[in-house]
Amino acid sequence: MKKKLIIFIDSGDTIIDESTEIRDENGIVIHAKMIPGAENMLRTLYEEGYTIAMVADGEEQSFTNVYMENGLGHCFKTRSISEIVGEQKPSRKMFDDAMLKNNLTEEDKKRIIMIGNNVKKDILGANQYGITSVLIDWSPRYDMIPKNEEQTPNYIIHTPEELLPLVEKLNSKL
Ligand SMILES: [Mg+2]
Repeated sequence: MKKKLIIFIDSGDTIIDESTEIRDENGIVIHAKMIPGAENMLRTLYEEGYTIAMVADGEEQSFTNVYMENGLGHCFKTRSISEIVGEQKPSRKMFDDAMLKNNLTEEDKKRIIMIGNNVKKDILGANQYGITSVLIDWSPRYDMIPKNEEQTPNYIIHTPEELLPLVEKLNSKL
């Protein structure tokens, strides 16, 4: 059954372990491993009927390569990628693109969550856009400390597994 909650999700260090990325001479990612637990998290959310929209900074080919390799590309209903959109998070254009591709309007914002690892991109972007923000602080690679209220996430999780109960809880409130 289709779930009411809509999931916007980052890729690097939210699903993919950036430290494992191997790039070609053009800087395109040709191989990368997933964060432990992320594959099960993504598959479960997809199988339970959640709409999952990728909102990620990077090159389209990198994401195609990585999600073809791990066989999880079908889990994303849409992809909003900075190379195509022309701006990076926290730009509202990235979120507008995901909204448009999923036929979502202003009234839908209360049932959208954005999950990411970067307070200056994912969390700031989601908060400014008026959707619920969820920080995953699994990776040590980015500054996890919010500098102000606008960078402060609504929820914090530490591993991909923790997303499932949070999503169920938020969905049940809708
Ligand atoms: Mg990231």
